[in-house]
Amino acid sequence: MHPLLILILTFVLLEFAVSSVLSWLNSKWMTHPVPEVLKGLYDEEKYRKQQEYMRTNKRVGWIERLVTLAITLVVLIPGVLGWLDNLCAEWSHSLLLQLLIFFGIYVVASAIISLPFSYYDTFVIEERFGFNKTTKTTFWLDTLKSLLLTLVLGAMLLSVIYLLYSYLGQSFWIWATLVCAIFILFFSLFYSNLIVPLFNKQKPLEKGELREAIEKAAGEMGFSIKKIYVIDGSKHSTKANAYFTGFGKKKRVVLFDTLIEQLSTEEIVAVLAHELGHNKHRDTIKNTVMSIVMVAVNLFVFSLLVDNPELSHALGGKRDHSFALSLIAFSLLFTPIDLILDPIINGVSRRGEYGADAFAAKHGHGEALISGLKKLSANTLSNLTPHPAVVWMSYSHPTLAQRITALLNV
Ligand SMILES: [Zn+2]
Repeated sequence: MHPLLILILTFVLLEFAVSSVLSWLNSKWMTHPVPEVLKGLYDEEKYRKQQEYMRTNKRVGWIERLVTLAITLVVLIPGVLGWLDNLCAEWSHSLLLQLLIFFGIYVVASAIISLPFSYYDTFVIEERFGFNKTTKTTFWLDTLKSLLLTLVLGAMLLSVIYLLYSYLGQSFWIWATLVCAIFILFFSLFYSNLIVPLFNKQKPLEKGELREAIEKAAGEMGFSIKKIYVIDGSKHSTKANAYFTGFGKKKRVVLFDTLIEQLSTEEIVAVLAHELGHNKHRDTIKNTVMSIVMVAVNLFVFSLLVDNPELSHALGGKRDHSFALSLIAFSLLFTPIDLILDPIINGVSRRGEYGADAFAAKHGHGEALISGLKKLSANTLSNLTPHPAVVWMSYSHPTLAQRITALLNV
């Protein structure tokens, strides 16, 4: 076996081990006593339901991880990707077309593998616990649309990156970063106009008590927001949410219809105050800059490895240079770096969440935010006692208990 393939397999197994240990730790922690600030959030029957929901998700999570691992090993060890790469080379003389065919097959195959899990999650688990609102038609249409979107956007981006590489050689990463940065900025600006309408309907929040309350509270916090939209989250799930998107003139607040249904006016205003806190602290801009820096680091490291024939050989490629195989080998070799970066990125994100909560509390919305978060948490049967290591590694938000404790101490 190629030594580099052994290294790649070690990383694949390492990632599997880390995620399995985290899942195991979390299930060990399930029986931990509920934190004092959350007492009474669930009654006994609802808590039983919550525990059952967690156990079901854990079991399915295990099966999914095992199946994914098995498929990864079956694909990597005999060199299936190398075989596919050779096949693409026979089908077309254009190197760019070979690359696009390879990734087209790769993306479609990955989508087919994950399909049974998302189907089971939506129509068995979420259905059983009363969360699912997605019809079969919506599910299939959404799956098809997101697959097409991935294929079209992926092909565009990949073509540009490949052409830059073929003209500039190793220094392509600088221009490729610039292209990716434009791509990221474009989609942060136009996400609401271009992507959201493919999956949801959104309309401006109607005049009335809620709109007036939001505009008044925003004014008191020094904001003037006119673009407040309601999105039909209820088309997919009963789970509620709200978010802030875009920069400058494109800035808009989006409330799920389910959020409006489940929370009182004061609580919605408090959730909005939290979102305005993010805006005040420029969290959206910071996140965008962080993603661009990450892309730059990735592309730079990739540029150092791309011409090394061993990357292709490790995956069973016959040719010395296959951009597709190099890219996949690189992404697998990058796994341990991701394992290090995840807790850092999530740590930064959690700090931003505390900051946004504190902003809401300082403007007098602390109490309403606590009751709003409690309702949302109870309605989604969220885990009240996640293991600290899981929080550290993978939580983009602090736990409910941590947020309430911090809010009480602002
Ligand atoms: Zn937030």
